[in-house]
Amino acid sequence: MAFCDLYQDKMHEECGVFGVYDRDQLDVARFVYYGLYALQHRGQESAGIAVSDNGSILYHKDMGLVNEVFDDVVLNHLKGKAAIGHVRYSTTGASHRENAQPMVIKYKNGQMAIAHNGNLVNSAVLREKMEDSGTIFQSSNDSEVMLNILSRYRILSGSIEEAIIKMMEEVKGSYALVILTSDKLIGVRDPLGIRPLCLGKIGQSYVLASESCALDAVEAEFIRDLYPGEVVIIGEDGVKSIRTSEGGRTFLCIFEFVYFARPDSFIDGASVYKARLEAGKRLAIECPVEADLVIGAPDSGLVAAMGFSQQSGIPYGEGLIRNKYMGRTFIQPNQSMREMSVRIKFNAMKSEIKGKRIVMVDDSIVRGTTTRRIVQMLKEAGAREVHMRVSSPPLRYPCYFGIDISSMKELVASRHSVEEIRQMICADSLGYLSLGGLLKTPVGAGCRFCTGCLNGQYPLDVSEVENEKL
Ligand code: 5GP
Ligand code: MG
Repeated sequence: MAFCDLYQDKMHEECGVFGVYDRDQLDVARFVYYGLYALQHRGQESAGIAVSDNGSILYHKDMGLVNEVFDDVVLNHLKGKAAIGHVRYSTTGASHRENAQPMVIKYKNGQMAIAHNGNLVNSAVLREKMEDSGTIFQSSNDSEVMLNILSRYRILSGSIEEAIIKMMEEVKGSYALVILTSDKLIGVRDPLGIRPLCLGKIGQSYVLASESCALDAVEAEFIRDLYPGEVVIIGEDGVKSIRTSEGGRTFLCIFEFVYFARPDSFIDGASVYKARLEAGKRLAIECPVEADLVIGAPDSGLVAAMGFSQQSGIPYGEGLIRNKYMGRTFIQPNQSMREMSVRIKFNAMKSEIKGKRIVMVDDSIVRGTTTRRIVQMLKEAGAREVHMRVSSPPLRYPCYFGIDISSMKELVASRHSVEEIRQMICADSLGYLSLGGLLKTPVGAGCRFCTGCLNGQYPLDVSEVENEKL
């Protein structure tokens, strides 16, 4: 990406998927377009839509935001019975056009398209095996590996359902998938349920989405989250569900609540907004401080900051303004402009900050570079003290499941103590929410959580990829 480090959407890479099967005369491409718009926060690098029309699959995808990739002419062209879409922020596979999704293939039984959120931990191994037997790959992403496995099993077993179940036995990792065949829309959630995926309904039509906020956007009614290991097949006769790991336990990525998901979404029974508010409250209890004003780092820290304020009784205010119009085309500042450039993204509200003891709440510290600059900016704006509070525990370990905290070296907390980080970011104090505290925040969630990036305990064997990342 052509940004300086400040503007890079650096660590947590995510994707959003969306799909619709129309039984009402919907304009499926536009429907997916609106759904993707509501999932744009999950990936800004590329966007794509595939529609299935009488056995053939048409698609359009490109680098850019949803509204940059699609216009009326393109959408008018994408007519069909069912559609899937994807917004991407690369995880496996570099940031190239050929890695944009949905990935569409032609094979013996026709055409098939897939959109994937997540990351396989054994894709390199699977890929090498296939390449050894002559398989050609056009991209470097996991989805193509899955498509290859699917098409093989589809040819062998004759049914797409069976092919998917077989594929699920081979691939390891996280995957929330929407798959489009000539006559079906299929949703798949990996056996650990690491990434979210939910099912909705509008009229007689069914919708799949990474987050419930996208169902709201298209006025679809939320039905439920998919179970871990569940395959949902939607066709002319309605919905069919197959549970491949009955009774299996969900290990939802805790960072969905901390950072990725939109606050108006509900995931596995819990409100993202309420979880962030609760995290802020617990943070105020665990790491109290005397201060005059609580502010949040926009936008990801705002809800937790409100929680901190409510619990501590310290007034909440807007202390930082974020420029909302910094698109992807923002020209990379040269070295000499870098320090200034932080001001283009954020500016401190001098009228609110001056002379005050500030509590600055943010959801996470990754490399610490932005945080350091913001603390400095607050001090320059006249803050008497800046107390940094983080509504999740230190990020110490890499993520293998779709958040590309690709190497430990980039994580400031993997090499430094809290006190060292405090000094590096020039804050007067620094406090993190404990893991125990964080795990209590998704109130109502009927699931367990993957906390690998926080405590190094992964719900799946990651030894095949570990060496690469450490
Ligand atoms: P740092 O001080 O580590 O440079 O930046 C901390 C900020 O990064 C926090 O506001 C946190 O919300 C944000 N952050 C964490 N993960 C990601 C990510 O994947 N992309 C972007 N754009 N920001 C992130
Ligand atoms: Mg942030």
